[in-house]
Amino acid sequence: MSRFDDLLAANKKYAEAFHSGGFDGIAHAGVAVLTCMDSRIEPLGMLGLGLGDAKILRTPGGRITTDSMVGLILAVYLLNVDRIMIVPHTRCAMASGDDQAVADAVMARSGVDIHGMVLGSTPDQAAGLRYDVARLRNHPLVKDLDVEIGGFLYDVDTGLLEQHH
Ligand SMILES: [Zn+2]
Repeated sequence: MSRFDDLLAANKKYAEAFHSGGFDGIAHAGVAVLTCMDSRIEPLGMLGLGLGDAKILRTPGGRITTDSMVGLILAVYLLNVDRIMIVPHTRCAMASGDDQAVADAVMARSGVDIHGMVLGSTPDQAAGLRYDVARLRNHPLVKDLDVEIGGFLYDVDTGLLEQHH
């Protein structure tokens, strides 16, 4: 018995109906989406996309991190991506306060001190999004390419995306 048993049982059923073997790994819709790890977000479904269409990267708050930046750059150069959506969302814990506040919450809940860890949280979510879009647009490996980069806020209560300019 393990805590993964239910998931592995579900996977067996999934594999029985699986017909996508041998498919390539490029993004057929030319899209990469960087969004939050939040469980209320279905990145493919909310865009009308399915398996094989898009590269999905997820971070706390949907913020650009070192690793997600690497993923986006590889997606552009190797995986057919020419449109990148950065998608934070409403009611995100990472927008409830700054890193200090989130570390305070971890401390209050667990007694563990993560103060000093860079979390990427910001109470000014729009500013964080503007910064991340600009950071990606101006990246030396991206800025001269024909890649459209957009910032969007996803509303977890309506399912709607709104582009931020
Ligand atoms: Zn979130």
